[in-house]
Amino acid sequence: MKVFKFGGVSVQSAQAIRNSVNILQMYPGNKVLVISAMGKITNALEILARRYYNQDPEMWTSLREIKEYHDQIITDLWGESTLLPEVERLFTLITNRLKADRSMNFDYEYDQLVAFGELISTQIISLYFNKTGTNNRWVDIRNCLKTDDQFREANINWELSVRLAKRQFTFESDDLYITQGFIGGTLTNQTTTLGREGSDYTAAVLANLLDAEEVIIWKNVPGILNADPDFFTETQKLDELSYKEAIELSYSGAKVIHPKTIKPLQNKNIPLFVKSFLEPEKEGTIIHSVEHPLNLVPVIIMKNNMALITLTPNDFSFISINSVSDVFSLFAKYRLKVGLLQQSALDLSLAFDEPEQGIDNLILQLQQKFEVKYNIGLDLVTIRYYTPELVSQITAGRRVYVEQKSRRTARMLLK
Ligand code: ASP
Ligand code: MG
Repeated sequence: MKVFKFGGVSVQSAQAIRNSVNILQMYPGNKVLVISAMGKITNALEILARRYYNQDPEMWTSLREIKEYHDQIITDLWGESTLLPEVERLFTLITNRLKADRSMNFDYEYDQLVAFGELISTQIISLYFNKTGTNNRWVDIRNCLKTDDQFREANINWELSVRLAKRQFTFESDDLYITQGFIGGTLTNQTTTLGREGSDYTAAVLANLLDAEEVIIWKNVPGILNADPDFFTETQKLDELSYKEAIELSYSGAKVIHPKTIKPLQNKNIPLFVKSFLEPEKEGTIIHSVEHPLNLVPVIIMKNNMALITLTPNDFSFISINSVSDVFSLFAKYRLKVGLLQQSALDLSLAFDEPEQGIDNLILQLQQKFEVKYNIGLDLVTIRYYTPELVSQITAGRRVYVEQKSRRTARMLLK
C-alpha cells in the first residue's frame, strides 16, 4: 500500500485535478490519497476565521469568495454549473458556524473553520473521481486521526489512531481512499489542525499507522532542491537524502517538506519520495535510510521574518541555567520555536519566527528580568556543507547579527 500526498498547488484547478488521475493510473495497487485544501484556500479561511472572531461582517464576503472559487472548479470539472449536495452541506455547516456565537478561544474557532478547506477539496475530488471511473472511498480523517485539544497544533494520539485507522482503511472492498491532510479530531469529536502545511505530516502518520510500503509527496518542483528557486537561479536537485539529513534540512526551514514528516517514516523505515506532478515519470528525491556517504552539494536554506531578541539580566548577573530555563518556558507559553541560540556570560540571544500577533507581550514579560534588545524582519540563512566562498557571497553587503559555524553547517542571521 502506498500513501500519496497532493498539496494545494497540485489540486488548485480542474486541470491540475485531472492531471492527478493520470498520476494514479501510473501506480496500480492499493493507495491512500492525502489531499490539502485547494490552492490558497487555507489562507482565505484563516482570514474568514479572524473576521468571524472579530465579528466583522466582511466574513460573509470571505465566505462568498471561497464558495465562488470552489464552484468554478466544480463547473470546470463537470463541464457545467453543478450542485453537489455533499459540498453544499459543508458550506451550510460553515454558514451555521458563522451565524452562531463564537467562543472566547480563537485557536478553537480557527480549527473549526479552517478545516473545511480539506473537507471540501477531498469531497469534490472524490466525487469527481467516482464520476469519471476512478472509484474511491472518501474518509473523514477526524474519525481516525485522534488528537489532543491543542488547537492549531494538535498532537496525535498514536495508540487510539492506529486502531481506528486500521479499522477504517481495510482495503477489503476498496483500493483507493481519499482523505484530508492537516486535520484531526479530539476524543469528543471536535475538529483540530496539526499546524500550517501539516498535510505532509498526515501522510507520514497514516503511512506509519498502516505500515505503508512508501510515501510519495507530489510537488510542483522536481524534488528537493539545494536552494529555493525563488531566490537562486542555479539550483540542483538532491537525488537522495538520509532521514537524518532530511530532518536537518526541514528543521532549518527548507520548505519542501514539513519538519514533523520524517520521524514517523524513519521509525518504520518507510521511504519517502518527493516528485513533480508536472513530470511524474522523473525520479525526484528519495529519503530513506542510507548507509553510504552522501557527498552532498552545499544546501542553502533561507528563512524570512525572523525576530532576534538579546537579553541581559537586569541585575547584571551572569546568564544562569535558571534564567535560560525561565526564558524557554516563556517561549513555550507563546509557542515560539527558537531557530538559533547564542549565549555569552552576560547575554543570551534567541532567533525565532516572528509570530503574527507580534512580540510586544513577550518583551514586556521578559523586561521584568532582563534588559531586552530586539530586531525583526531578519533572514536566517543556513548552509549545510558550506564553503567559505559561499558564506562570503551570501553575507556580502549585508549586516550579520549572529553567525554560527559547525563542521558541516553555517548559520547566519542577516538584515
Ligand atoms: N492546507 C493546509 C495549509 O495550507 C495544509 C497543507 O497544505 O499542508 O497549511
Ligand atoms: Mg495548503
